[in-house]
Amino acid sequence: MVRFLTLAMHAVKRAPNGGVRFRLDGRGLGTLSTRRTGCEMADGTMRAWSVVTAGPVEENGLRLVEKPVPVPGEDELLVQVRACGVCRTDLHVSEGDLPVRRVGVTPGHEVVGVVAGSGAGVAGFATGDRVGVAWLRRTDGTCGYCARGAENLCPSSRYTGWDADGGYAEYTTVPAMFAHRLPEAVDDVALAPLLCAGIIGYRALRRAALPPGGRLGLYGFGGSAHLSAQLALAEGATVHVMTRGAAARQLALGLGAASAQDAYAMPPEPLDSAILFAPVGDLVPVALRALDRGGTLSIAGIHLSDTPPLHYETDLFYEKQIRSVTSNTREDARAFLTLAARHGVHATTHSYPLTRADEALRDLKAGRFDGAAVLVNDL
Ligand SMILES: [Zn+2]
Ligand SMILES: [Zn+2]
Repeated sequence: MVRFLTLAMHAVKRAPNGGVRFRLDGRGLGTLSTRRTGCEMADGTMRAWSVVTAGPVEENGLRLVEKPVPVPGEDELLVQVRACGVCRTDLHVSEGDLPVRRVGVTPGHEVVGVVAGSGAGVAGFATGDRVGVAWLRRTDGTCGYCARGAENLCPSSRYTGWDADGGYAEYTTVPAMFAHRLPEAVDDVALAPLLCAGIIGYRALRRAALPPGGRLGLYGFGGSAHLSAQLALAEGATVHVMTRGAAARQLALGLGAASAQDAYAMPPEPLDSAILFAPVGDLVPVALRALDRGGTLSIAGIHLSDTPPLHYETDLFYEKQIRSVTSNTREDARAFLTLAARHGVHATTHSYPLTRADEALRDLKAGRFDGAAVLVNDL
């Protein structure tokens, strides 16, 4: 096992050109051989969005500010952001639906960027490599959950854009062990939504235990759902979509869904499995009633409004199951990115300049686009 926790990084030293040079100091390194990697910036500060006050996005608690360019830890990469997808979790972080874990955090965890520097303990990445930065940022690797392959449940897990600054910025950092290699053929904007929406949709689909050739219901049809729908269809499922937006229903039918109707409507046939993507607890009994005997409802969101009381006979009896979905493992990410490339799973994207991230979040909240919004770095 590689030891590199004793490595300290000492920043920040003013460089002769007026910029900032990061210096890596190998004090306490012992016998670990080092390559003194460092990185130089033209400027020591960058522009980044910051959740100054968690609250409704209409009230401008999310602000574009100047921050120091982050200094990568000794096992981390510094990543220059090219594109960053907009996830509903970013909205939950900005609005305080998720508790504040880092004051002034920069949201964003669907980052496609290039390596701009690294800590001295990093091997296997070079400056200029394209990498993906996703939600799961770090786990302890030692607890019982990690040991049994359930690192998504690690009590020590840390998350990009919640515990640490994310991708709504010029630069971000990521532990190298949690950076994702990306398929070369797909462009930055198309890749970004795969890094959370896609991976979570994949895990939600697997948690829904859809039998081969089964009937799958999707409640809500945003960034995550439209990606898992494509994967389910490619694997032979019949897909029914229940969502409020007319444009989203059109998108669903265009992708090959067998039917598309209002969120509270019954699908035309009983479902073997359902996935609740909309963060609406009222839909839990609606989806359970649409399940056939023995069916499974998988709840994909990190946040859900309260569920109404369930009726045992109609909602749960006949061995219906409810399963939540918590984050994802790196193995989920690898599996999904491989399958997405194989089946041509592609995101329907709406690009916004990164300087208009607040507008993108307001539009997401209001349901003003279908598919996934992606911020393109113009900072
Ligand atoms: Zn753990
Ligand atoms: Zn996300």
